[in-house]
Amino acid sequence: MRVLRTIAEVRTAVAGLRAQRRTIGLVPTMGALHEGHLSLVRAARSRCDEVIATIFVNPLQFGPNEDFSKYPRTFDNDCRLFEAEGVDLLFAPETAEMVPPGATTIVEVQQLQDRLDGASRPGHFRGVTTIVAKLFHIVGPDQAFFGQKDAAQVAILRRMVRDLNFPLELVVCPIVRELDGLAMSSRNRYLSPEDRERALVLFCALLKVQERVAAGISDSAALLDAGLTFFAEEPSVRLDYFRIVDPDTLEDLPDVRRGALIAVAAWVGPARLIDNLLVQPSQLVQPGLAAP
Ligand code: AMP
Repeated sequence: MRVLRTIAEVRTAVAGLRAQRRTIGLVPTMGALHEGHLSLVRAARSRCDEVIATIFVNPLQFGPNEDFSKYPRTFDNDCRLFEAEGVDLLFAPETAEMVPPGATTIVEVQQLQDRLDGASRPGHFRGVTTIVAKLFHIVGPDQAFFGQKDAAQVAILRRMVRDLNFPLELVVCPIVRELDGLAMSSRNRYLSPEDRERALVLFCALLKVQERVAAGISDSAALLDAGLTFFAEEPSVRLDYFRIVDPDTLEDLPDVRRGALIAVAAWVGPARLIDNLLVQPSQLVQPGLAAP
């Protein structure tokens, strides 16, 4: 695996690959890798000739009171993990390489960027889209791989790719979980053993909603009420949002009959955690059929 630090080096490397007609898969990350990230690499490996991963802790996507300075940075270990998964090129730029001093150009996906996490993290998605758009320009991948874990990010990037005509396919990979169901996250390492237990409340609430959907309930308010009981029992966990929304527009849905995204975010100790569940129309009980 070659580690590249500058945009010029990436462009040269990509030009060489393109001359050989190699297809390119891009896996953007902020490092502090876990199995969730590696699942994206495996998906890219299986679909593309060359895999380019990036590690960039993007300052633009952190708010002034967020964890940018203490975000985990485990570069040497990340390199070992990426190399073992067969990453061909790792682009790991310094901040100034990606955000040159005096940069004033931003990419915004208006409206969507203010929903879900965007409502409680103003400017977050603008930071994401600005940097991801730059990575798309720099690398020019055929496919770019993102995790369903960040469901709002997926909706926003899909819209960006469509609106700005990026000639690439966005591939969304399923959420990778710990054995007990907690969604893997670089921020899970902030959790004390007690917080780690409490953090399960997010997944339990989602499972409850899934169970109620399977039992034939489709009304969003009733489904959310069922999930909220778990948060009532865990008062030290501070709920940010628990919503049932359209997976593309991120707007609230009154019911899940046509499919829906059930999304949750909560503060558990020092960590803000997110999780979600997609309800597909095919999972819904048909009217007139008995619930299983
Ligand atoms: P991050 O390093 O947190 O910016 O994440 C980089 C990519 O990994 C994003 O596309 C995330 O959605 C994805 N990702 C993070 N955690 C998971 C997970 N548990 N399962 C699947 N993908 C994930």
